[in-house]
Amino acid sequence: MAGATAGSFGAITACTPHKGGRRRTGKGRMELSFTPINLNMVHTFTISGFSRDVTPSILVRITYDGVTGYGEGGLPPYMIGQTHDTVQPFLSKIDLAQFDNPFQIEDILSYVDAIEEGFTCAKSAVDIALHDLIGRLLDIPVWQLFGYTAEKSPDTCFTIGIDTEEVVRAKTQEATPYNILKVKLGTDEATDKMIVETVRSVTDKPLLVDANQGWSDKHYALEMIQWLSERNVLMVEQPMPKGILDDMAWVTEHSPLPTYADESCQRLTDVPRLHGVFHGVNIKLLKCTGLNEARKIIAATEALGMKVMIGCTSETSCSVSAAAQLAPRMDFADLDGNLLIANDYFDGMKIVNGKITLNNRPGIGIIPLSR
Ligand code: MG
Repeated sequence: MAGATAGSFGAITACTPHKGGRRRTGKGRMELSFTPINLNMVHTFTISGFSRDVTPSILVRITYDGVTGYGEGGLPPYMIGQTHDTVQPFLSKIDLAQFDNPFQIEDILSYVDAIEEGFTCAKSAVDIALHDLIGRLLDIPVWQLFGYTAEKSPDTCFTIGIDTEEVVRAKTQEATPYNILKVKLGTDEATDKMIVETVRSVTDKPLLVDANQGWSDKHYALEMIQWLSERNVLMVEQPMPKGILDDMAWVTEHSPLPTYADESCQRLTDVPRLHGVFHGVNIKLLKCTGLNEARKIIAATEALGMKVMIGCTSETSCSVSAAAQLAPRMDFADLDGNLLIANDYFDGMKIVNGKITLNNRPGIGIIPLSR
C-alpha cells in the first residue's frame, strides 16, 4: 500500500503556485506528504491555565495532475493533545491512491476520518489541502466555490492574553489597527477585572471575552457576565468548564450577553446537545476536521437558530486563510493566529482596516514563502 510520506519544507516551497489555463490530463494519483514545523510566538502567550513560546504544527501537501494543494493543522499543546510524534504515524496511514481524483472529497474525508478516532488537527490539514487543491484545479477561490460573498466577511478581533497591567496596556496600544479586541479571562476576579479595566483605560472599542472554562460557579459566571455587559463587551466565550451543561444553560438563560461554546463544541455531533446551552458555537478547523465538516456545523446552527463564529489557534497563514474562506457566514471572527507568530510559512488572507479581506487567488489564496 502506498501511504503518505514525510518531506522537508524545501520540497513544498519548490512547488510553483497554479496559474490556471494549463491543459490537464485528468489522470494520475493523488500524493500526500507532510512536514512538522514549529511556530515561534511573537509574545509568550498565556490563557487560563497555560503559557507557551512555541506552537508545533503540521503542514500537508497533496499533489494531483501537477498541481499542489496545501494544508495545515496547528497542534496547540493545551487543546487537543496531538503532537508531532502522534500525527505523523497517523498521516502515514493515509493512502489516497485508491481514489480517482480530489473531487471525491466526501468519500476521501470519510475514509480519512474512519482510519482512527481523534487526530482532528491532522484530518483538518488533509481537508484544507484537498480544498486548496480543488480550488487550484478549478482556478477559483474556495469562498467562491462555496457560493459566498467575500465582502460580507466581518472584522477580526485581536487577542490580548492574560498578563500584567503594563503588558496588557502595551498590547492594547499595539492593537490600534483592529476594531474589535478579545481578552482572555478566567483567572481570579481581581485579575480578570484588572485586565478589562486596563483595556478600557486605553480604548472603548468593543470587546469579546474568552474565559476558557475559568469560571466554575454559575452564579459567579453570571455576575461576571453582568459586570462585563456594562463595559461594551459583545459576547462571552466558554465561561464555564466544558462538561457542565446544566449550569451553563442556566447562565445562558439569564445572560445579558450572547454565550458561545468553544471547548464544549468540538465536532458536528456536539452541536444538537448545545442548543439551549449556548447561544452560539465557535468553529475551529483543527477541532472539527476541516472545512467540509465546518460547513455542516454552519448548516446545523442555522437550522437550530444558533449563532456561529470562526476561530483559530497560533497557526500559519495556511490554516488562517482556510478558516477565512468561511468568514462571510460568521457572526464573529477570531482569525489573528498568523499575526501571533514570528515565522509564517505562507502569504495569504490579509486584515485591512481590521476587516478580513479575502483575495481572488485560487484555492485558499496562499503562496508559500521560502523558509
Ligand atoms: Mg476560546
